[in-house]
Amino acid sequence: SEKIIEVKDLQKWFPVRRNIREFFRGEHRYVKAVDGVSFSIKRGEIFGLVGESGCGKTTTGKLIMKLLEPTGGTMLLDGKDVTHIEKEELKKYRRNVQMIFQDPYASMNPRFKIRDVMEEPLIIHKLGEDRDERLKMIEKALKEVKLNPPEEFLVRYPHMLSGGQRQRAATARTLLLNPQLLVADEPVSMIDLSTRAEILHMMKEVQRDLGLTYLYITHDLSTARYFTDRIAVMYLGKIIEMGEPDDVIDRPVHPYTRALIAAVCEPVAGKVNKAKIVPIKGEIPSAANIPKGCRFHPRCPYAVDECREKEEPKLQEIENGHYHACRRWKEVQEAV
Ligand code: SF4
Repeated sequence: SEKIIEVKDLQKWFPVRRNIREFFRGEHRYVKAVDGVSFSIKRGEIFGLVGESGCGKTTTGKLIMKLLEPTGGTMLLDGKDVTHIEKEELKKYRRNVQMIFQDPYASMNPRFKIRDVMEEPLIIHKLGEDRDERLKMIEKALKEVKLNPPEEFLVRYPHMLSGGQRQRAATARTLLLNPQLLVADEPVSMIDLSTRAEILHMMKEVQRDLGLTYLYITHDLSTARYFTDRIAVMYLGKIIEMGEPDDVIDRPVHPYTRALIAAVCEPVAGKVNKAKIVPIKGEIPSAANIPKGCRFHPRCPYAVDECREKEEPKLQEIENGHYHACRRWKEVQEAV
């Protein structure tokens, strides 16, 4: 299928300890970390999930990685229902969907040489006939991420590599398993500022060479703009805007996206007329207590009664794949 992964109404609610009154009333409370998220990622696409901390993007990534069990919704991998799988199917899934960690060092045994760090997943998944063949696979993967000459890196320990080289090695290790989807949660946030662009560039090159598909999770709109083909902006467990970076970042529609762009990345504010942007007020509400109606209404400068009282606005398409969830979007665009 053209879509590698497709999630519909994905949900992850964590139960909260009840107080005595709630207990006797039989009431339950939940932290709604992911509260009905739908999107799909096409083969060969880089899809960005963007938002502030606490918006649910990392939990969404963990659901996609199957490190967490969803409490609602469905997930398809290559058209096959993988919402609830276990044992052999889960093992196969884990091979097809690989993760690039924020801190590659934490995912490597410090007493192993890079050769052994990389051979481990091959052995686990029974790939390669013998050690020679596995070594050839490893060298090829190291070349792919430009760790040259590979022989030199094979015998080094993780601590002998720079942060950037470690992220390259970690990427090479995931490539060995020939995954269908790579989930990268803030893959460069722990890397030296000066090498971040270089690492993202490498990831993009590898993606093009091998036709890989990425889910890129970040709070950083400027890297998302450079790196992704499509972006979804999350707020309090839901996607509130989605589309190509040119649309979402240059012509944002939702008041939250507009404010986020104006606040966090001056250089990419692009064509948004700053004079027309009203900053957002207040803190993000708790995911244990999501506001009724439009969940952004307590902080939205354009909120009116219907935003608070009517049902939550759903994602709607304005044009060619640009979606937003604001019932007053026309007024927002016209407002000064
Ligand atoms: Fe603001 Fe209303 Fe739009 Fe929600 S629906 S973002 S409260 S204007």
